[in-house]
Amino acid sequence: MAKYSIHAGHNAFVPGAQGYIKEEVVDRMIKDATIKYLRADGQTVYDDTDDVGKTQNENLSAIVRNVNAHTDLTLAVSIHLNAGGGTGIEVYQYDSKTDAVATRVLNHICAITGLRSRGIKKNTSLYVLRNTKPQAILVECGFVDTKTDAEIVSAKTDVIGKAIAEGILNKTIIAENAPNQSAKSAPAKQDATSSKKSPLLQNKSTGSAVKKLQQDLIKAGYSIGKAGVDGIFGTATERAVRALQSDYKIAVDGIVGPDTRAALTKAVTRKAKSAASSGTAVVAYPGVLLRRGSQGKDVERVQRALSLAVDGIFGLKTEEAVKAYQKRHGLTVDGIVGMKTWNTLF
Ligand SMILES: [Zn+2]
Repeated sequence: MAKYSIHAGHNAFVPGAQGYIKEEVVDRMIKDATIKYLRADGQTVYDDTDDVGKTQNENLSAIVRNVNAHTDLTLAVSIHLNAGGGTGIEVYQYDSKTDAVATRVLNHICAITGLRSRGIKKNTSLYVLRNTKPQAILVECGFVDTKTDAEIVSAKTDVIGKAIAEGILNKTIIAENAPNQSAKSAPAKQDATSSKKSPLLQNKSTGSAVKKLQQDLIKAGYSIGKAGVDGIFGTATERAVRALQSDYKIAVDGIVGPDTRAALTKAVTRKAKSAASSGTAVVAYPGVLLRRGSQGKDVERVQRALSLAVDGIFGLKTEEAVKAYQKRHGLTVDGIVGMKTWNTLF
């Protein structure tokens, strides 16, 4: 078995290209899938992505340092998305030693996405290609600022990762423990009603799928801000999504994919059940502030809502949980359950 180094470009401090999707978010999803499939085939894979560099130089040199810390690597792969309004896939290489693997990766991604090939391209000035010791390629997986590219790529990160892995290995990976999120090669359609083909929703997404998301977030008790259900995925909607993700202990990235959809469905159901059992749409605010030292049924209710041990005594742990909840939901963080916090909780 061989050793590979895979990384995604950019990070939250020095973001990549931004358009309909965010490069540093989607490239990480493709990177994760690539690693998953290589490992499913039994390869040794290092994730050399840098999440801490605060400048572009720090980020790039950290990646190179990470890659060069390994010995006997067969290949290093840098995963990026393009910008500039074009369309299609391209793979950069330092020299022609990587012709075969670059061509395979390119062709595999084009086949699975239906996006056009922009070719393999030699470039000796790209920092990572120039400075990494092993052979390296840099894959540009579509354009973040071209709508069709962005929709297709964000909906197919798993199969793109598989295509990259299969291109690297020059074989078909049969990985029963690494299921495809969508195995079809037809371009994804913006079809909000078909859950299997639902596109990822994230900041800047718009349309009826976003409206439905916002309605569900409200049903589940997450505030989406003053604008209300407007079909525009803005900061307040992202905050609500992150709060949901945090509450359901899934990756907090503000992006609505299958896991987040499942969590939201659960949250809506849970909310509907608690409303049914209390007999009203919302549990009426008891009219007194609940704070450190408060006791009784209403404290029990708060503790249950926050998944705490229920003893009916508002102690330090309850206060901390209330503060964390308030922070996640954009409320004043005072550890006191007043009307606003109560009505957000219930
Ligand atoms: Zn990039």
